[in-house]
This record gives sequence, C-alpha cells and structure tokens, in this order.
Amino acid sequence: MVIGILALQGGIEEHRAVLERLGCQVRLVRFPTDLEGLDGIVIPGGESTVMDKLARAFGLAEPLRDALKSGLPAFGTCAGLIYLAEVENPAPAQQTLAVLPVRVRRNAFGTQKDSFEQLIDGQPATFIRAPEVVAAGDAEVIARLADGRIVGVRHGRNVAYSFHPEENGRTDLHEQWLRNLRGEKHV
Ligand code: GLN
Repeated sequence: MVIGILALQGGIEEHRAVLERLGCQVRLVRFPTDLEGLDGIVIPGGESTVMDKLARAFGLAEPLRDALKSGLPAFGTCAGLIYLAEVENPAPAQQTLAVLPVRVRRNAFGTQKDSFEQLIDGQPATFIRAPEVVAAGDAEVIARLADGRIVGVRHGRNVAYSFHPEENGRTDLHEQWLRNLRGEKHV
C-alpha cells in the first residue's frame, strides 16, 4: 500500500519508520500532486497552527481537504487529530480541515512540562501538549484515559489519537488502521 505522510512539520520520520516496518511504501506529501493514488495518509504530531499555515502557504490545504472528503483515509496523532477535527479553542486565525465530526480542546493537559505517559489498553501512550476530544459526535470512541477523557476516535476509515504511538516504538495502532484499509476485520 502507498501511504502518505503530511510532511510539512512534526514527527514525520517516526511515522515513516513505523509504516516502513509494516511494509508500506511511504510518500512524503508536500504538494497537491503528492496526494494522487494514495491508499491513506498520516497526519503527524507537531504543531497544528504551523501545519495549518504551511498547508495553506503550499496550496495543499484545500486539495487535502477535498481528498479526505472524497474518502482518502487518515491516521492522525496529536496535532494531526487537531488538524482533522474542529477546535474549541483555536489560536488566532487557526483553521483546521474539519473532516472528522469531533471537537477537540488544544493543550487540554497543560504545557510541554506537563507531558505524561499512561498505559492505555496495557500499552504506553505519550501525551505532549495533547488535545482532548470534548465531543465525539458520531465517531466511535476507541481510547480513553483512566479518568474517562476521550483520547482516540474512529470515524469510517479514519482514526486519530491524542497521543503518540509512533514515539513508543508501537506499531499496533498503525497496523490496525492498515488492516481496516485492506478491508480486514479490525482486532
Ligand atoms: N499542542 C499542539 C497543537 O496544538 C499539539 C502537540 C503535539 O502534536 N504533540 O498542535
């Protein structure tokens, strides 16, 4: 499968390593033509305001939104989740793609120094200036913190998490998504 990574800013290499380990052909996406023929796209963590600015500056925001609306499946982590969702507390002039029917609060767990790790379903999950999903709409909730806060959602063939599976050497969440794209049952 050919999987793109939105390669404007953020944790691009970490996702590339995971996808290559899982046997994908990876394409870094910077220009509209890079979207052609993809089976899915990863939107990495980083800083959603910067991603937004760069995507608009590169003329990529609209073609990316159109591709996602036409069914290109996405896998988002942290800033990637924010960029795919609606934001309750956007930075001034911040825009998002708003293709996932969920609402998030940016930096819901504090600043960089408040970063933490928690086991979710027995696996380590790292939260770095992470967003919380405050309204999941008709998306399915697939990850919660111990206190019940929503940190992972699935909607159709899109999944997005507040944390960074790619930072922990985890491949299982990418793998589940890829399996779903291939039409296999998710585990
Ligand atoms: N707080 C960042 C944002 O608003 C996300 C942080 C991250 O991706 N680790 O985009």
